[in-house]
Amino acid sequence: MPITTDVVIIGAGPAGLFQVFELGLLDIHAHVVDSLQKIGGQCGELYPEKPIYDIPAYPVIGAQELVDRLMEQIAPFEPQFHLGQAVTELQRKDDGRFALVTSTGTEFDTATVIIAAGLGAFEPRKVRAPGAADFNNRNIHYRITEAEELLQKDIIILGGGDSALDWTLELHDKVNSLTLIHRRVEYRAQPASVKKMKALVKKGLVREFHGMVREVLSANGKYRGLCVADADGNTHEIESDDTYVFWGLSPNLGPLAEWGLDIEKRQISVDTEQFQTSEPGIFAVGDINTYPGKKKLILSGFHEAALAAFGVQKYLDPDKRVFLQYTTTSPIMHKRLGVVRPQGDK
Ligand SMILES: Cc1cc2nc3c(=O)[nH]c(=O)nc-3n(C[C@H](O)[C@H](O)[C@H](O)COP(=O)(O)OP(=O)(O)OC[C@H]3O[C@@H](n4cnc5c(N)ncnc54)[C@H](O)[C@@H]3O)c2cc1C
Repeated sequence: MPITTDVVIIGAGPAGLFQVFELGLLDIHAHVVDSLQKIGGQCGELYPEKPIYDIPAYPVIGAQELVDRLMEQIAPFEPQFHLGQAVTELQRKDDGRFALVTSTGTEFDTATVIIAAGLGAFEPRKVRAPGAADFNNRNIHYRITEAEELLQKDIIILGGGDSALDWTLELHDKVNSLTLIHRRVEYRAQPASVKKMKALVKKGLVREFHGMVREVLSANGKYRGLCVADADGNTHEIESDDTYVFWGLSPNLGPLAEWGLDIEKRQISVDTEQFQTSEPGIFAVGDINTYPGKKKLILSGFHEAALAAFGVQKYLDPDKRVFLQYTTTSPIMHKRLGVVRPQGDK
């Protein structure tokens, strides 16, 4: 039997989590599906230990802490999570509702869908050079969860984007040695980070290398490092205990691309009034959507989630007049949030 609900949110990143909150304020309960085993989207998966500086009212907050705080904030609305399963099928039924199916066979019969799927199905670009298959996720890693594990190690960081540079700056004084390998001389990362990295290279605190990974080196079944070819085709052996790869995520919309929605440059087009897609009843918030002026920031996802919640409310009950209520003063909001205010408190 499918689970019958008013709304299914696809994606448990910051946008999907805050979507639960905004729906909850309007008394709409949500089911949340994520292909990852854990909650938090990019924040939890790609940079849990990094500080974020542009979340309103938090001069600085760790990415995992942000996820934890969001979970705390949405707890009163008791969302139901379905983790470790990707949404693979979405179809409108004859009665106008949606049939949604996940990779593990969970079925939903839902009135609306909110796609908060970020970059699509999470797939870090993998090292595919000869020998890599034996060491992928053993000595060749695609994320850093515990920076302490790297202490005193010789490490290689692969990549030239923000993640590779941020981790280089963060780890250079914690590890025994750090070699940053990027295939080109130009970096995609913020110029300020590149400048800082170059200063570390000048001081001999980071080794910078440009080239392509040709082979993963091993001896007696043990990982040893990488063989890298420079621009002239000369190969160099670079030894390390571990390699950390930040080549980005391959933006793979996966099944989302086949649901008949208007898609522009691999993102789902939405209106900016309620962040509805070309298909009434299907909304999209966060990094997955596009509209004129879109900026892929957590902040943008939060704003979009607020307006999408009102859009869902209107879609579910077009005749109901919904008034904006302040969480500060509205007794209805307090009831929904489970807030108990001291007597006489105005
Ligand atoms: C290193 C780094 C630093 C960053 N720093 C900042 C910063 O300082 N400030 C800032 O505002 N932003 C920052 N960002 C960007 C920010 O993390 C993203 O804008 C944000 O995570 C987008 O949130 P989201 O919820 O839209 O998507 P995501 O966080 O990408 O979450 C989407 C979720 O959807 C799931 N999903 C996808 N497809 C499916 C499917 N078919 N079925 C089920 N689940 C699916 C994914 O598994 C994922 O968990 C940074 C990003 C990186 C990589």
